[in-house]
Amino acid sequence: MPQDLPARIAANLDTVRRRIDAAAAGAGRDPAEIRLLLAVKTQPVETIRAALDAGADLLGHNRAQELAATGPPLAEAGVPPHEMHFIGHLQSNKVNQVLRWATCVQSVNSVRLATRLDQAVARAGRAPLDVLVEVNTAAEATKTGADPADAVELATAVGALEHLRLRGFMTIGAHSPDPAEVRRSYDRLARLRAEILASAAPGTQGAHALSMGMSGDLEIAVAAGATMVRVGTAVFGARPYP
Ligand SMILES: *Cc1c(COP(=O)(O)O)cnc(C)c1O
Repeated sequence: MPQDLPARIAANLDTVRRRIDAAAAGAGRDPAEIRLLLAVKTQPVETIRAALDAGADLLGHNRAQELAATGPPLAEAGVPPHEMHFIGHLQSNKVNQVLRWATCVQSVNSVRLATRLDQAVARAGRAPLDVLVEVNTAAEATKTGADPADAVELATAVGALEHLRLRGFMTIGAHSPDPAEVRRSYDRLARLRAEILASAAPGTQGAHALSMGMSGDLEIAVAAGATMVRVGTAVFGARPYP
């Protein structure tokens, strides 16, 4: 590990927090409403540890194997307390691995996956699991997430499951150089939240979270109402592989 890594991570974290603060101020929002999740995929445990030492308290993994590998070292004594969310494509056979280490699954994109999670939580005898419904707001073929047209129905079904707690929505957003197009995808997620909250369907009243915005576009997401931004590159630098 290069000697300056902890200092670099701390400085980058600070820069990202300032960006969030500035974006919140610009949108007339309280920056305390916006949580920063660090997307730690591909990062070695020393790097993740440096981010926690610098004050990060919420991490997201999108590969079950990496989540399981960093679980034990990050559970050791002396590691600052933090929350771990799962933010990637979740295969059915990895559900138990993810449940072991994550307190929220942000990538629920089908009734099938929701049902599997619900059953696994029940079998484990655990408290209900927080989940977000992931929506493909940009309707891009390469993205995961439920079709926006199906999102309300999916969220309603998730809300009805006994062992899951619907906390809101997540999206990756449009991958576009046009800020207006990115904004449209984030506005779409905000509208879905408004729709589900207005529905008053059982188990949906806690669906306030909007997890949206990444290193390149968090300002747009904050302006559109993000309650959580997921940042990787801006804190850790470019990844060795995607
Ligand atoms: C990697 C990742 C991010 C962070 O992306 P950056 O552009 O590196 O900030 C956010 N969300 C998800 C789901 C990711 O996989």
